[in-house]
Amino acid sequence: MIDRRDFYIDGAWVAPRAGRDCEVIDPSTEEPFAVIALGGPADTDAAVAAARAAQPGWAATSRAERAELLTRILQAYKARAEDLAQAMSREMGAPIDFARTSQVGAGAWHIKGFLHALDMFEFDRPLGSHAPGDRILMDPAGVIGMITPWNWPMNQVTLKVIPALATGCTMVLKPSEIAPLSALIFAEILHEAGVPPGVFNLVNGDGAGVGTQLSGHPDIDMISFTGSTRAGIAISKNAADTLKRVHLELGGKGANLIFADADDKAVKRGVLHCFQNTGQSCNAPTRMLVERSVYDAAVDTARAVAQAMEVGPADREGRHIGPVVSAAQFDRIQTLIQKGIDEGARLVAGGPGRPEGFNRGYFVRPTVFADVTNQMTIAREEVFGPVLSIIPFETEDEAVAIANDTEYGLTNYVQSADGARCNRLARRLRSGMVEMNGASRGAGSPFGGVKRSGNGREGGVWGLEEFCEVKAVSGWHDEVPHHHHGSGGCD
Ligand code: NAD
Repeated sequence: MIDRRDFYIDGAWVAPRAGRDCEVIDPSTEEPFAVIALGGPADTDAAVAAARAAQPGWAATSRAERAELLTRILQAYKARAEDLAQAMSREMGAPIDFARTSQVGAGAWHIKGFLHALDMFEFDRPLGSHAPGDRILMDPAGVIGMITPWNWPMNQVTLKVIPALATGCTMVLKPSEIAPLSALIFAEILHEAGVPPGVFNLVNGDGAGVGTQLSGHPDIDMISFTGSTRAGIAISKNAADTLKRVHLELGGKGANLIFADADDKAVKRGVLHCFQNTGQSCNAPTRMLVERSVYDAAVDTARAVAQAMEVGPADREGRHIGPVVSAAQFDRIQTLIQKGIDEGARLVAGGPGRPEGFNRGYFVRPTVFADVTNQMTIAREEVFGPVLSIIPFETEDEAVAIANDTEYGLTNYVQSADGARCNRLARRLRSGMVEMNGASRGAGSPFGGVKRSGNGREGGVWGLEEFCEVKAVSGWHDEVPHHHHGSGGCD
């Protein structure tokens, strides 16, 4: 058993003041392999106090100092890449090759992206030539509480910690109690890179404990949360009494609109994307909307792709998909698959139970439902497993209506050779992101949603702005900006 019952507070690894033990389960074997501590109010308070004390000093550093730190973090991150991959593979079931490339790679990509964004970020901006005496200073938002989920651990942690460091914020991170080990390694990386004491703190805990303590804490200025819509609502309510800012990256129910003129790889690409990370991505294209004239062919292709998809343990190399993360998720997915059958969807691949050859581990059969209506539970609720719903449509207007008829609004997808149609749909779809014909998001592209998918954006320049407060100054005395070094994250 790996023993990681310590927290990282004020630059040191410390024993919990009020810890309860919590086992970390390997989803491929259902066996516990590590133990962490779940902290209590005394741990949360100590971490928040350290972050508060460190905040003015960190805010007074220059952009160049913070950029140097980010560069050292990137180096240290790369040096620990294999440790991070092994940790994520074990804690959340990502097949090791996928963990090495995509899960670890996402974090490195974000650190590089924020280095670039920091380089061009304007912390000190003129309001405009019409108001020469007015100035905008982008101040750090202050002490940030960060709460992250288990499905893309380093992706989500770097999307919060790196921009907060870059803008002069200090922070307390509570990673998911289900997948906490990679975050502990990340704390070691930050320590090794020279993050000053108190600037970054980590306390493990669950939602009811440390999560709730952070979101209600009077000395935290802002919460940055990624996770379920349910928890996002609870956090917003809990944060209301102290009127702290709440930034939310929540669930999704993405539609993938496939038109008859789509390229011949569009269906296969959509199925593989839906099953990526064993379907455990908030931006997964889980509703495949297919134009009627190519619908039967699309269903056949989806069936073939799902049936060819290999499922296997996380420590096995190769391009298979792994188990889902936990017993709770496994049970929830099984319930939803059964609901799909009971509500009349046509099961064309997969179905209830484990794949053949497995009697342990949270393995789910890659499942495809056809003839789904948008009112069925599988089309409305986030499944968070390898389950695809295919829905036919007749017209572009109908496709848009179905796509937008959801509580969520994170990413929608369009596949069509007609460029004018693609752009028209990009405007009409209600979501934070639209990806067309397999194009993936470029460096610095902001990630986030509308409706019940949350608010705010992560990544790039928008991701830095998220951790700033806008300070409007009137009667600005003209000076060479480089001379004033110090507060407000200025040069
Ligand atoms: P979850 O909401 O249960 O947990 C996420 C985090 O919130 C964990 O650290 C948990 O301890 C904490 N938490 C839970 N309840 C809380 C509460 N009441 N107060 C404070 N903290 C609380 O979600 P999960 O099961 O870990 O992750 C899966 C969900 O996350 C999915 O719904 C998925 O769509 C969503 N997600 C969204 C994005 C995005 O960027 N939009 C990214 C990844 C995951």
